[in-house]
Amino acid sequence: MDQVTPLVMMNEPFRLETAPNGVTWLACPPLGTPHGFSTRRGGESEGPFAALNLGVSAGDDEATVRRNRAAWATALGMTGPIQGMHQIHGGDVQAVAQRAQETLYGDAIVSATPGLPIGIYTADCTPILLHDPGTGAVGAVHAGWRGTVARVVMNAAQRMVDELGGDPARLRAAIGPAIGPCCFEVGEEVAAAIAAQGWPGWERAIVRDARPKPHVDLFAANRDQLLAFGLRAENVFVSHACTSCDADHYFSWRRDQGRTGRMQAAIMAVAR
Ligand SMILES: [Zn+2]
Repeated sequence: MDQVTPLVMMNEPFRLETAPNGVTWLACPPLGTPHGFSTRRGGESEGPFAALNLGVSAGDDEATVRRNRAAWATALGMTGPIQGMHQIHGGDVQAVAQRAQETLYGDAIVSATPGLPIGIYTADCTPILLHDPGTGAVGAVHAGWRGTVARVVMNAAQRMVDELGGDPARLRAAIGPAIGPCCFEVGEEVAAAIAAQGWPGWERAIVRDARPKPHVDLFAANRDQLLAFGLRAENVFVSHACTSCDADHYFSWRRDQGRTGRMQAAIMAVAR
């Protein structure tokens, strides 16, 4: 195989913010609309869910999760509830103009409605937030390795272009905390699935070094997909924050062997 040149990661303008209520999140100011990647800091949950668990599926107390979600929305200045979806590790996108009356299924959600917060949950998978400063439209994407192979972030950007007046040259993207290539060991079947998809630069997603098994770089994979779609390199921001390495800030499904909380990446269009 030819030597693959790593991309220079120039854009990392992320910073931790803490609200008066103690909720701490990762922000990417150049994204340019209200948004945040939650951390585990600031909520009321205990044990493996300490403290800002935002997911109800893992066995935490539901009333506590509801309070955590309310504190999270308040911290971001959003009027909850944040519209989420039942995530299925695929490539489907839902476009919403208002709060859904029924459960949405898919792994990306896009909207151009001012004041309607949208979000996706993660605990190792890649959260990606999108904003088109020309139209105000936003998107939230959940891309684990299966979603990445399904090109879910490209699908979400495509929906923003097709239905919400988006322009790839104008779109901005922030790739938040996910399990990094330091920790995301995979089997050969995962490497093969990525290779079979073959988006431009896919080779960067598979890390082969002295370790016995391949590792996957979901940051690079999703960045490369966004660049292939037509986003400008200066508009794609990558946190490189590894959820598995940083137990102080993040839940990690793999590190905690499934008994852990969920974080949310949320974003909202604003009136123009
Ligand atoms: Zn790591």
